[in-house]
Formats: sequence, structure tokens, C-alpha cells
Amino acid sequence: TSEEKSKAAQLFEGLANGDRMKLSKAITMIESTRSDHRRISAELISMCLKESGKKNKKQKRIGFTGTPGVGKSTFIETFGKKMIENGHRLAAVDPSSARSGGSILGDKTRMPYLSVADNAYVRPSPNKGDMGGVTKSTLETIILTEAAGYDTCFVETVGVGQSEFMVSEMVDMFVLLSQPGAGDTLQGIKKGIMELADLIIVNKSDGNLEIASKRTSGNLIDALRFVAPKSADWNPQVIRTSCVSLLNIDRIYDTINLYFDKIEKSKRWDKIRTLQQRNWMWRQINNLIIERLHEESDVSEAAESLEKRVLSGEIAPTTAAYEIVDLFLNKPKI
Ligand code: GDP
Repeated sequence: TSEEKSKAAQLFEGLANGDRMKLSKAITMIESTRSDHRRISAELISMCLKESGKKNKKQKRIGFTGTPGVGKSTFIETFGKKMIENGHRLAAVDPSSARSGGSILGDKTRMPYLSVADNAYVRPSPNKGDMGGVTKSTLETIILTEAAGYDTCFVETVGVGQSEFMVSEMVDMFVLLSQPGAGDTLQGIKKGIMELADLIIVNKSDGNLEIASKRTSGNLIDALRFVAPKSADWNPQVIRTSCVSLLNIDRIYDTINLYFDKIEKSKRWDKIRTLQQRNWMWRQINNLIIERLHEESDVSEAAESLEKRVLSGEIAPTTAAYEIVDLFLNKPKI
């Protein structure tokens, strides 16, 4: 409707003026499941995409992952400060619904500098979410921060379930944070994550952890030899950092800039973006279909009873899946 259009236009104008309140309002809007809100959101996002298409400078989207305790929040705060001092406008979003609390207050204490800095926007993690810790609206949230003039967006994930993989599909650069390990093994690094990383940071390289951090960094460099690089334009780097002594914080900044120069020159950046849009569309289709399926009570009930029969070994999972989908689509059963 025209009312929805004008609401979207209003929000867009607020965003374009860099109004932080409007950005928060817009994010709340896209997170809403109300159908009128959905239409406003769709309108708003298409306005944002149209506008960003006109610009020749893309927002740098960087994902950070790592097990709890490696220092993600501390690193984002420390490195984010560096970014702000270098004149950037930085948004940090944390779509991991699994993080306990997730209140604005909680985030303020996690990132005291960024949460009050003029050129930073910290979006606290949403209270409700799904998809294993990443909300359905994460990519839209990122797009909104771009429209609000943030040249860089950090996306943090605690790595619950599939969240790292999903975040890696919506950012331009993926950073894995690790910390000095006790032994020679690469503890806590999920299978498949090394392959996604463009940069691996061994944080807490200070004090009595320094020697261990050198060993961990050496192990990671060795392990990377067995990982096929994602592209010929970039070899993943391993860098030791400390948020205490600020070791290599400048180097991280330079490395990230170099990475973006390379993917800009090789034109891979555009390809990454195209792929993101496609993956996101199909993820949303998957979600919507599952959501709709559960909304149909007869299908949902049938699915439940079929699930029981699968669990008891009575029927094969594939057979059950066919039956459920066919029932949902009102097609004749196999
Ligand atoms: P997250 O769970 O990954 O977000 O980790 P946090 O940022 O909450 O950090 C976990 C703990 O590690 C905190 O006590 C931090 O103070 C500490 N920490 C973070 N970075 C460093 C670092 O570079 N050196 C040292 N020694 N401690 C750090």
C-alpha cells in the first residue's frame, strides 16, 4: 500500500541521514514477522539495495568466529577502536541468539568504547532467533547498516550449530579467532572452519601465553598447507595478536585492507556478493517452506508421527520425507 511505501521511505531517509535511532527502528522492523512489517521491510531493503548499487564503494563485511572465551568481544572492541581512530564508521552486529542475555546493557559492558563512540553502532544480539544461532534477518541487518553509512560491518558469531557457516556466506571476509593451546593439537577448531578462514588470529599472545601462542600459530600455518585456498588471489594468513599489548593490531588493519584490495582487483568481491544474494534467497526459501509446513496442522501432525516411525526404525527417513512433502504439496503419495 502507499502507506507502507511512505513508511519505508521515511525509514530510509532516516537511515541515509545516519540516524542511529532510525537504524535500530529499521532493524526491529525487518525482524518483525507481522505481514505489514514484512512488506515495509521488503520495500526498505530494495531501496537500500538500489542505493548501494549506485555507489562504487562497497561496505566491508567481516565475520568473526571463535569459541567462547578466545576474546572475540575484546578483539572487536580493541580493533574497532583502531578502525574508528582511522576514520571509519563501524557497525558491529551479533546475530547469535544463543548468547545468554543479549541485552543492550550486556553489550555495553562487552564493548564499552564502541557502544558509545559516535562513529560506531553496536547491535545487540536478538532475543529470539533460530537457524542454529543466526536470525533470519541477519543479511538484511547488514544491508541496513550499509545504508546508514557504515563503511565496515563486523558480524560476530559464537559458532553454535551452523552459525559460522551461515555467517561466512554473508560476509566478504571471514576471520577465525583462536588462542594459545595447551598442547600441539588445534583445539576447539571445528572441522571445515579452517577452509573458510581468510585470516586466522591467534589472540592473547602476551605474558606467559606468548610462547604457547607462537607454537599454536606455527601449528596453524602447518595445518593451512593442507587446506586448498579459496581463490588464487589470496592466501589465508595467520597472525598473533594481543588486546593487552596491542601486538599486531596495526598489522591486522593492513592485512584486512590488503585483502579487500586484492578481491577488488580480481573482481572476486562482486562474485562473493552475487553468491551471497543467491545463497540467502535459497536459505530463506528453505526456512519459509519449513515454516509454512509447520503452520499446516495436519501436515505437522503427520510429520510428527512419521518422525516417530523413523526413530523406531519402522520406515526410512527418505520415505518419510517424501510422504511429508507430498502431503504438504497435496500431491499423490508415492
Ligand atoms: P569471547 O567470548 O570470545 O567474546 O571472549 P571475551 O572477549 O569475552 O574474552 C574472554 C577473556 O579473555 C576475557 O577475560 C578477556 O579479558 C580475555 N582476553 C581477551 N583478549 C585478550 C588478550 O589479548 N590477552 C589476554 N591476556 N587476555 C585476553
